[in-house]
Amino acid sequence: MGNFGLAYIYLKQALRQTGCPICRCCFDHETRYLKFLLWENVNDIGTRVRLAESLGLCGRHARQMLRLEQEDLGMTLGNSIIYESLIHLVSLKLHDMRSCAADAGVRKDWMNRLFGGLGAKASQPYSEEAQTLLAPSKGCRVCELSEEAAKHYGDTLVEMLAYDELQEMYERSDGVCLPHLRMILQGTGQALALEYLLSQAETRLQTLEDDLRNLGKKHTESHRNEPMTMNERLAVERAIAFLTGSDPPQSMKDSRMTSCVQSGGSGDGPHEELL
Ligand SMILES: [Zn+2]
Ligand SMILES: [Zn+2]
Repeated sequence: MGNFGLAYIYLKQALRQTGCPICRCCFDHETRYLKFLLWENVNDIGTRVRLAESLGLCGRHARQMLRLEQEDLGMTLGNSIIYESLIHLVSLKLHDMRSCAADAGVRKDWMNRLFGGLGAKASQPYSEEAQTLLAPSKGCRVCELSEEAAKHYGDTLVEMLAYDELQEMYERSDGVCLPHLRMILQGTGQALALEYLLSQAETRLQTLEDDLRNLGKKHTESHRNEPMTMNERLAVERAIAFLTGSDPPQSMKDSRMTSCVQSGGSGDGPHEELL
């Protein structure tokens, strides 16, 4: 078997857990970066400049970083240092924006005094230039890194699926979500592996569709007393997870407890962790 490096090891671990293996690996990748940021780089100037350019992280990653520090250290010191400077930055920008508007107001007043009542159009109080002061100039750094990592994990997964034993492992897993399936199909993976992934997804979707149909049926009067299987109970969550990607684990410390499930659940798959 080829030597796939760390991505291979992480993917193998992820295939034994619930949810899309690429979503899981990306979440862990993001967590490692955020830990490094919090423990090592809070005062690093390059990191702080990059955070300032994006006015912090996106909502999801900002909450992930907060939860990480709360759960790991029981405090929020690193976050408070980062946010103190970001809030100060936005406060400076607001001040500058008001100054710009005040300057424009003075200019407008000259015009009013000069042409008052002669059909001068009311202008916007805040110019476009002033408004752009409040917009980030770059996107969330963790989103960028996660996207790069997802491509690498996708390529590695496709290479891994050339081996029978790893195909068996994939079949016992929840499989990849639709966003990551699309990403893999845009790559240059081997046609055979791509065909395998598509056929796997099709099989899983047929099972999921049956579970959703049965779930609906068991809400009707005539079938109300029939017990629901665990897969039927989780069918809507599984559909959302497939269409939009897996939820992050509920707790940073217990990444095995995740609410995302996509497989049809043969009984020996990752669903067992939820039972
Ligand atoms: Zn995914
Ligand atoms: Zn982000």
